[in-house]
Amino acid sequence: MKFSKYPLAPEIKQSLERLGFKKPTDIQYRSISPILRGDDVLAIAQTGTGKTAAFAIPILNNIHNAKEHQRREDGIKCLVMVPTRELAIQITEVFQQIGRNTRVKTFCTFGGVEQDAQIARIQKGIDILVTTPGRMFDLIHQKQLNFRRLDTLVLDEADHMLDLGFIKDIRDVVKLVPRNRQTLFFSATINEEIKTLAYSLVSKPVRIHISPKDPVSKNVNHSVAFVEMDDKRFFLERLVKERENEKILVFVRTQVRAERVMKAMERVGIKALTIHGGKDQKDRMEVMRAYKTGEVKVLIATDVSARGIDIPGVQYVVNYDLPDQPENYVHRVGRTGRGREKGLAVSFCSEQEKETLEIIQSFLHKEIKVMEIEKQDYTATVDFSEDHTNDWKTLMKEQAVYEEEMKELQAKRRKQKLKKKKK
Ligand code: AMP
Repeated sequence: MKFSKYPLAPEIKQSLERLGFKKPTDIQYRSISPILRGDDVLAIAQTGTGKTAAFAIPILNNIHNAKEHQRREDGIKCLVMVPTRELAIQITEVFQQIGRNTRVKTFCTFGGVEQDAQIARIQKGIDILVTTPGRMFDLIHQKQLNFRRLDTLVLDEADHMLDLGFIKDIRDVVKLVPRNRQTLFFSATINEEIKTLAYSLVSKPVRIHISPKDPVSKNVNHSVAFVEMDDKRFFLERLVKERENEKILVFVRTQVRAERVMKAMERVGIKALTIHGGKDQKDRMEVMRAYKTGEVKVLIATDVSARGIDIPGVQYVVNYDLPDQPENYVHRVGRTGRGREKGLAVSFCSEQEKETLEIIQSFLHKEIKVMEIEKQDYTATVDFSEDHTNDWKTLMKEQAVYEEEMKELQAKRRKQKLKKKKK
């Protein structure tokens, strides 16, 4: 069914049309009606499936229709808790775009920036607050937030919030919001811990599980290429040069590697930017702006910095290093093929990473398609590189650092296995 046939306010339909959203995605089809009715929802869905609009559309519609925004001084109506600032900004944008023609006010708060401007905006009156836990509690302690009349609580990327240790914050916030609220719980993955948390928050929820068998979106064509550690930069160079006009998102394991790969690309005339936890908020926002507008086509990211962020139009995801956590494979390749677009992803797997590849494949319950590279083609890629640095010292150092990191990882895995056995 098209959005035009949904029982939504004309102001919201107009925005959906302007955004080019004609038909709901799977998650939207299954969650919009229950949320409009006031039901709780427990949804397992990754970013890229259209899950933000799946809750933003009905929440905006409900607040708009209730004309609650005319009594903003009573406190906020909807609280959306998210793990990262990037996600907070991105979700707020979606609310603001879809709610553009309504009078519903959405605002977001996060740490790492001055709070005075945030307080001033909250005091002016808002309907929907999107926030990370840290800054939210600062504001609560300063009595700047009032949840007395809150109708809807949204927890997005709950699994990531648990990874980051926000479980206590979630439990604490629940004590501050009305009991008869509507709760919408979203997570990309599910395990016992998440299930227990979810069921302690929701009541008689509508359960939605999107593509449980294959967590990688159908829109993403993903494969693995066997490339030696030292040759990865040549393959990235070739890929970027062959796809000059495309937006490419490159994932690496550590901040140090992100900077190194960027330097290697610089040497061959490719402009790239990095985003990782070592950068301050201002830098990260500037990097995201330059990448989103297409000013720079190549972004090199670590997992933590990139989780959940939605960058429209990423055509290619490159796993320059395989991720340590198999779930992150799903999050990474999910950065492309968003909504109804198609996307491509490739993972460079070196000899040392074959064990990691196996772990990822068993998490996916299937083998990743192999991108065959003919020997001739492999040699040509290396030979044709514009990188003529023969700085063996640097290269050897790079290899040594990597091997050290791999050893640590393997030791960590052995410990985890032992722990499991003991249980
Ligand atoms: P999300 O999973 O919320 O991060 O959304 C992923 C992408 O899908 C975003 O770029 C949205 O703009 C896009 N999107 C969401 N819903 C639709 C829709 N119904 N039709 C087309 N694109 C959509």
